[in-house]
Amino acid sequence: MNLQSNFDLAPVTTFHIRARARYYASYSSVRELADILAMPEVQGLPVLHMGGGSNFLFTCDYPGIVLHSAVSGITFAGGDGPEVLATAGAGERWDDFVEHACRAGYNGIENLSMIPGSVGAAAVQNIGAYGVELADRIHSVTAYDTVLAREVVLLPSELHYGYRQSLFKEPHAEGRYVVIAVTVRLTSEPAFNLAYGPLRELAALDSLTSMDVRRRVMEIRHSKLPDPDVKGQGNAGSFFKNPVVSQDKFHRLVAEWPDIPSYPLSDGEVKIPAGWLIEHAGLKGARVGGAMVYPRQCLVIVNTGDAVASDVVALSGKIQDEVLRTFGIRLHPEVIFVGD
Ligand SMILES: Cc1cc2nc3c(=O)[nH]c(=O)nc-3n(C[C@H](O)[C@H](O)[C@H](O)COP(=O)(O)OP(=O)(O)OC[C@H]3O[C@@H](n4cnc5c(N)ncnc54)[C@H](O)[C@@H]3O)c2cc1C
Repeated sequence: MNLQSNFDLAPVTTFHIRARARYYASYSSVRELADILAMPEVQGLPVLHMGGGSNFLFTCDYPGIVLHSAVSGITFAGGDGPEVLATAGAGERWDDFVEHACRAGYNGIENLSMIPGSVGAAAVQNIGAYGVELADRIHSVTAYDTVLAREVVLLPSELHYGYRQSLFKEPHAEGRYVVIAVTVRLTSEPAFNLAYGPLRELAALDSLTSMDVRRRVMEIRHSKLPDPDVKGQGNAGSFFKNPVVSQDKFHRLVAEWPDIPSYPLSDGEVKIPAGWLIEHAGLKGARVGGAMVYPRQCLVIVNTGDAVASDVVALSGKIQDEVLRTFGIRLHPEVIFVGD
């Protein structure tokens, strides 16, 4: 535990865009967290939790304290049957958790391989990829409740999961809970979700393992997504959520754009890949200052090296305007803007 002031956020966020926090502290236990929150320096200041900083855009310096979880540990608890409960501390890297599970021969989260960030944020964000969402596997989340000043265990019925949505993001609960550990349900049975196009070919393999699926997912992701650790590729993943439209709206779109890709949802609505809309609105490679629409995956905005936050804000506004003008669809950011 170490309270640092005037802290540079560029190295600890994946956009690597210049911004400073008044204070920054990391903690490795609930006790340390409570001690930080009780410090006289931080009383009355805004508080923000950050894991790997891979979903944030700071548009100005942060006037409060940024807290970072370093709560560690990964354990597996099984009974007589195939089901296993796997628990990881919120400060573990999400992808390390997935790798541990695959190495141990357990199945269930392999499709979520290589998603940047921490275990704690994964439960806040309800991360998803290749047909699987964390909500599908969640058993419980252990959190520190800052109102009750004690640990609580939250069950799926209380977590209110939706598309990149959870209890933690609901206005009445925002900032109330700090995720300490996450438990997911895994299985040693060969049950895989291979519905996503490029994974389908794996169904033909004999004795498929979660590690095989993980490797394939990693290959696909390497080929499509920029690496935030590489200079000139800073980014926060999907900048916008994939929009959901009514059947009526979808039929009108298909009449004009017969190739438009779509995923039908169980309630009759239709999800459309935002990256396709951005590309077909003519924005592939579009730039404002140092911010650019990544040509291989238009859903991602990259910091080509010297972007400032206002470049990204201006480019995201331009994307929203063009997509609205072309398709009549309003895109909503997945990235969290912090600032003005
Ligand atoms: C290249 C790239 C690819 C990506 N691909 C995907 C993808 O396929 N699918 C997907 O869903 N996302 C994807 N993302 C987005 C991102 O990886 C996820 O949202 C991830 O869960 C963020 O983790 P983080 O630790 O960086 O969270 P941060 O950005 O640090 O925080 C995200 C949110 O979680 C909150 N939070 C963090 N830790 C805690 C805690 N301990 N307690 C309470 N709240 C907390 C923060 O306050 C914030 O609201 C991608 C990002 C990048 C850069």
